[in-house]
Amino acid sequence: MKKLYLRTFGCQMNVADSELMAQVLAGEYVLTQQAEEADLYLINTCAIRRKAEEKVLSLLGSLKGLKKRRPQLILGVGGCVAQQEGERLLAVAPHLDLVFGTHGIYRLPQMVRAAAAGRRVVEVDLKPGLPPWPQRQWPPKPVKALVTIMKGCDNFCSFCVVPHVRGREESRPPSVITAEIADFLAAGGKEVTLLGQNVNSYGRGLPEPITFPDLLRRVSAMEGLARLRFATSHPRDLSADLISTFLDLPPLCEHLHLPVQSGSNRILKAMNRGYTREQYLEKVARLRQSCPGIHISTDLIVGFPSETEADFAHTLDLMAKAAFDQAFSFKYSPRPQTRAATLPDQLPEVVKAERLARLQARQDELTIKAHGRLVGQTQEVLVEGLSKRAPEQLCGRLRTNRVVNFPGPRHLVGRLAQVHLTEAHPHSLKGRWVEDPPTP
Ligand code: SF4
Repeated sequence: MKKLYLRTFGCQMNVADSELMAQVLAGEYVLTQQAEEADLYLINTCAIRRKAEEKVLSLLGSLKGLKKRRPQLILGVGGCVAQQEGERLLAVAPHLDLVFGTHGIYRLPQMVRAAAAGRRVVEVDLKPGLPPWPQRQWPPKPVKALVTIMKGCDNFCSFCVVPHVRGREESRPPSVITAEIADFLAAGGKEVTLLGQNVNSYGRGLPEPITFPDLLRRVSAMEGLARLRFATSHPRDLSADLISTFLDLPPLCEHLHLPVQSGSNRILKAMNRGYTREQYLEKVARLRQSCPGIHISTDLIVGFPSETEADFAHTLDLMAKAAFDQAFSFKYSPRPQTRAATLPDQLPEVVKAERLARLQARQDELTIKAHGRLVGQTQEVLVEGLSKRAPEQLCGRLRTNRVVNFPGPRHLVGRLAQVHLTEAHPHSLKGRWVEDPPTP
């Protein structure tokens, strides 16, 4: 078998797409962790921020040497940067063999064969309609599954490149989704995350009338499912029905990622987000009321064009009011084809960096406080594997998605374990395994 090295940038959708790439190529290629021995090197890219894109271009440049040492190596770029740049990538990287867009994964075997025959291949069509989607095959003894339920986005937030590189929103039929999950559960899997750019609008355009809460109810009822999560939710489309599912569906974990992006109504309007800070905070209050203990995480952008110190103060204020357990925060960066990139009043980098540092310091305080409240409790952890930093320890997640490291026997991997939480850190907790009681 030839060897495939896959480098993935970006979000969980990209991780799921990379898993699909490995699957469609599995007849000819086996995955390797060693780039030096690869026959096929694929980079799955992210275009959400300029920095992410720059990383990809820099990696591509650094691969010239590898290509020289292994002239038979096929080098390909897929994902959002590939979709955005298309043929231009061949010009900036003469050692590149293949460029494939976000809808082209299922055609990879043919494209790779054409590249192996000496052609430089570019396929970045973004046709409406779902591309043929291979049924997922799961590895033996899987623990967690990322299941894509829809592609694309129709929201056109003014800062976001996603609708331009992933196309219009399309939902996969529920029967296909549940069949995929049934296979995963039959293989012993425990946790499923349903993925889409805006899962809350799942079902629009399908012949069978179905909403996202309906899909959650269907999946929750599947035999053997221990945990269910989803990402990402648009706050505007977070319905009362969806909020009630946290209480009604036992496998649905007490965690919601609800990107707010800004706490200023003026900036939210310029971002085309479709809600106000008051509406957002009201939904957070309803979530906390209906599901006490829910962990709410968010995304925040600082330095959007024309953002004033007063706008930024509104964001800090909203963070405190919402009491986010975790926030992923970024400096605004103009993206091609987006409306915000053409707005006047782009802020200097130094202003964005200073605001980001203040915001992150504020969030670190909130996160450590939230983690501190858990110390002394015993909670269920799904053990995912060995800790990356301390391989003598196990690593897993609470239902609220917090990472927990603790010493324990390897046979716990893939199982639910009770862990007594002993220490809080900014990005994780430490704990002690509470051994299972002996079976009578
Ligand atoms: S909802 Fe907005 S931020 Fe999210 S993918 Fe769609 S356009 Fe981008």
